[in-house]
Amino acid sequence: LYDVVALGELIVDFTPVEGISHAFQQNAGGAPANVLAAVAGFHKRTCLISMVGADEFGDFLYREIENRGVGTLGIGRTERFNTTLAFVHLDEQGERSFTFYRKSGADLMLNASEIDYHIIKNARIFHFGSISMTDEPARSATRQAIQTAREHGSIVTFDPNVRPRLWTSIREAKQVIADVLNMVDVLKLSAEELMFITERDDMNVGLQDLMSRYPCSIILLTLGSNGCICCSREGSQWVPGYSVRTVDTTGAGDGFVGAFLGALLDLDKRPENVTMDELVQLARVANACGALVTTKHGGIPSMPSREQVEDFMENYGE
Ligand code: ATP
Repeated sequence: LYDVVALGELIVDFTPVEGISHAFQQNAGGAPANVLAAVAGFHKRTCLISMVGADEFGDFLYREIENRGVGTLGIGRTERFNTTLAFVHLDEQGERSFTFYRKSGADLMLNASEIDYHIIKNARIFHFGSISMTDEPARSATRQAIQTAREHGSIVTFDPNVRPRLWTSIREAKQVIADVLNMVDVLKLSAEELMFITERDDMNVGLQDLMSRYPCSIILLTLGSNGCICCSREGSQWVPGYSVRTVDTTGAGDGFVGAFLGALLDLDKRPENVTMDELVQLARVANACGALVTTKHGGIPSMPSREQVEDFMENYGE
């Protein structure tokens, strides 16, 4: 039995090396892998479903996530396509932009027929994003996996991580995302994504709109250093963030999600049965994990353990 199974991109992120111009360092990347690394930090059993190339980069990714205690049983290797690569650029303000080397990238070549559905049938939580839905065959594979998870009673969680440039058209992106929202129990969004999906400028109106149109039990709207707003059928509440010495925000949203899932598993309730008080407590843990992630460089390497999150929360403000 797995606590959290995630499906999606496992790619190599090349980040600029500080102080050496034009030098890049290779890191394991991809939101689902980051989320599972955070969940593993909460001592939960995880498994990633993805596809990498039968190349050196694929070997590297395998090793990196295995070292973090993330289950690799669902990761396929393909001889026909190379591991997907992304380069991260930092402008003078420290803002990030990406160049993706993904046409025929292995992550997109995940096929519905190649998934081991036993892994999904044995998951308490199934988590996914939208990057595995930008193109076929991974789009159908993602949908099939969500369907299987629902049929077997798993809690389904979704963090779209919208990257408009990866889609052929914005209209298609909105349509595909709207379709899967009908199958999701817990939805995590940034303010930008809320606007993208709902086309509403006002956050409260956008959240109400989503709650009335889709059957989600919980929506988490993350607000960077300002924490998050959590919504359930009982209402919504702002949960302030923690003030920390931020050095790199990579993976903050993924750490937030991973900690939320870890804490939800400890609570041992389905999302629809979580009370507002409990939801606020889960959001506090998630905010603390997100904040801690920003105090270190990188995605996977900066995911804290549950003990580190708890210590931080206990000692905060002293
Ligand atoms: P990313 O895509 O960069 O991983 P995101 O947009 O999905 O991030 P954010 O809202 O940036 O998500 O961050 C997620 C959570 O992490 C926030 O809700 C907050 O709890 C925490 N967090 C993020 N940035 C900071 C910060 N600078 N200081 C403290 N906490 C932060």
